[in-house]
Amino acid sequence: MSEIHKQFDAAIAGGGIIGCAIAWRLAQAGMRVVVIERGDIGREASHAAGGMLVPLAEADEADDLFHLCVASRALYADFAHELQQVSEISVGYRTEGTLYLSLSDEDDEELERRWQWQHAAGLNVKRLNADCARKLEPQINDKLRWALKFPDDHQVNNRLLVQALRIAAQKAGVEFQTQTEVERLLIEGQAGRKQIVGVQTSRGEIRSQTVVIAAGCWSSLLANESDILLPNLKVEPVHGQMVAVEMPVPPVNHIIYSCRAYVVPRLGGVVIAGSTSDKFGFEKRVTAGGAASIIERAQEILPGFGDLAIRETWSGLRPRAGDGLPVLGADDSVAGLVYATGHYRNGILLTPITAKIISELVLKGESSVQLSPFSPQRFARLQAAGQAP
Ligand SMILES: Cc1cc2nc3c(=O)[nH]c(=O)nc-3n(C[C@H](O)[C@H](O)[C@H](O)COP(=O)(O)OP(=O)(O)OC[C@H]3O[C@@H](n4cnc5c(N)ncnc54)[C@H](O)[C@@H]3O)c2cc1C
Repeated sequence: MSEIHKQFDAAIAGGGIIGCAIAWRLAQAGMRVVVIERGDIGREASHAAGGMLVPLAEADEADDLFHLCVASRALYADFAHELQQVSEISVGYRTEGTLYLSLSDEDDEELERRWQWQHAAGLNVKRLNADCARKLEPQINDKLRWALKFPDDHQVNNRLLVQALRIAAQKAGVEFQTQTEVERLLIEGQAGRKQIVGVQTSRGEIRSQTVVIAAGCWSSLLANESDILLPNLKVEPVHGQMVAVEMPVPPVNHIIYSCRAYVVPRLGGVVIAGSTSDKFGFEKRVTAGGAASIIERAQEILPGFGDLAIRETWSGLRPRAGDGLPVLGADDSVAGLVYATGHYRNGILLTPITAKIISELVLKGESSVQLSPFSPQRFARLQAAGQAP
């Protein structure tokens, strides 16, 4: 493979959904941008996800992450539409909403809690009796007691979204260097006046005054190998498995949750069920036990799920920082170095707002969103206060 030596305005380390979306926005603003991806574009966590855009269905309280997720969800319809227009790929953005089922006494308590705080906060959540819920989805379990409906918790086909992002970014002028590993960050200057000048890759040096680390669960490895030891910034992989089955007509239309699992309908007669959550390091694997437990729990939502033909099984690595919050912002000690990582369970949902925040930071030096809860420096602050996660 040929060597590359080039000068760019921004180099993005990692070609998942986050890196591609940031690259697209920066190129739209006129920057010369390169995405450096050690494998193929969008084949890691961004490929493995369920594509659910469901801040309300998953939230226990209105914390900083919740507000960020809701803000990103509000951008999604326009984001998907713009992307579809530019790329000419339909990204499967669906607006039927999400149902959350109560199937037991314990579920009653869980759903009641969620209903109470979200209803009191004026959020768009509906309470449905079993008959109403079954009218929406006749195939759900007869044990259904009642359900919540989250009309604004939508979904997108994440695999198509990454393809669309790549095409849109290429049309805007982004260069993609795939099968190319970022080995080190290149930094010049003394403490207090350090500046990023590019990255060393497996195919040569790339020069750039801005580097965005968007390397998913490998992000802190990259930072540490370059001696950017942000105290306690550790993004770790959380392994998740999924099972997709072929579902004959009539298909399910909503995302459907129980307290133990979820099923996501895709256009074309496929339903995805998930997921598991394990610490297996960086190894990906579909285990017999993992797949069996997903099928068993999906069957509780849709009896008969276990009789359907399996279309595909897969696993992926969610990038999780120590406190479970994304890491978004500029490095205080190295000018031009920016982080966009740690999106954990919400990276597909958080893509539009992450691209907006990071492009604003790079282009204007400030973001329209309050970033202190997500700052890469928060780990140092917490450590100083004796509260490191
Ligand atoms: C099973 C599962 C289900 C999920 N479901 C949902 C969901 O329904 N909704 C939702 O919002 N989120 C979901 N997520 C989370 C979501 O998938 C992630 O948060 C998101 O994809 C993270 O995107 P990313 O671009 O940061 O990471 P990735 O997609 O992992 O991309 C990082 C890229 O960086 C590359 N890379 C790493 N190191 C280097 C290097 N040194 N040099 C060059 N390239 C490098 C990798 O090869 C990879 O392509 C799910 C995740 C899993 C695993």
